[in-house]
Amino acid sequence: MTTRTILLASPRSFCAGVERAVDIVERLLAARSGLNQDNSHPTTPNVYVRKQIVHNTRVVDELRERGAIFVDELDEVPAGATVVFSAHGVAPVVRRDAAQRGLDVVDATCPLVTKVHLEARRYAARGDTVVLIGHAGHEEVEGTLGEAPQQTVLVETLADVEALEVDDPNRVSYLTQTTLAVDETTALIDALRNKFPGARGPDTADICYATTNRQAALSVIAEEADLVLVVGSANSSNSVRLVELAERNGTPAYLVDRADDVPTAWFDDVRVVGLTAGASAPPELVNEVIERIASWGPVQVIEHEVTRETVRFTLPPAVRPA
Ligand code: SF4
Repeated sequence: MTTRTILLASPRSFCAGVERAVDIVERLLAARSGLNQDNSHPTTPNVYVRKQIVHNTRVVDELRERGAIFVDELDEVPAGATVVFSAHGVAPVVRRDAAQRGLDVVDATCPLVTKVHLEARRYAARGDTVVLIGHAGHEEVEGTLGEAPQQTVLVETLADVEALEVDDPNRVSYLTQTTLAVDETTALIDALRNKFPGARGPDTADICYATTNRQAALSVIAEEADLVLVVGSANSSNSVRLVELAERNGTPAYLVDRADDVPTAWFDDVRVVGLTAGASAPPELVNEVIERIASWGPVQVIEHEVTRETVRFTLPPAVRPA
């Protein structure tokens, strides 16, 4: 039987922002389940999480099994309870709502999302129209839009840029969602600058290091692969962008939430498989996919590392070790 080759992209899987967000919920759950110093059971209330802490089914299911209560909106959280804001960030109106309800907020917003919020505030404060490049309906985009809703417009496509009208073409700034495709975003920024030559913004620097690195790593292996598998959930923006990137390279690609989603039928005539995972997908899911492919015949795994990530974010004070 011919040995199948798995080209493993590196970096892949969890980024620093996702690790931090998951860590925050785990620490709150651990504090709840630990014993008091007098060995009595603690009275720490439930741990609520607004929206999915990160966009991954396995992560959310495991935290739910351990006691986290996921809610869509704050009116589902009892007054005074602890609620975690997800890695994708929230609009200021959500923060105000939490304060009015007397909720104990632990903020798991990724610091790189917070950076974009701060830019939105700064650009709006100088009186600019703020053009946000991103995907409508994504939680991160809703949070960023909420910083200056009267002054911010969302663009998703080149056609949106073409149709865009602003009060003052000389006062335009732009921002991007953190998890976009670098090549597509560059094209949108170029179009925006062509239309508004004075437009100011961070180029593609709002696209975070983890998104950029995962795309760079996949680009290296996609062209050599007959098929690309991206481990990630359907609502994970950076994972979906990886699938699209492989397809733009001319390689068929599938998004898989778990190993059981991978049928043998995809592997007819496939000798080289490219494998990666979005920033919210746990590393063990990648191992499970490799095990599944290996269960059908011999495989050799070759890892291609384009860069080594060393980024770490500090925890918020509420869960920081003493
Ligand atoms: Fe932060 Fe980027 Fe990870 Fe999102 S993908 S949590 S922005 S590091």
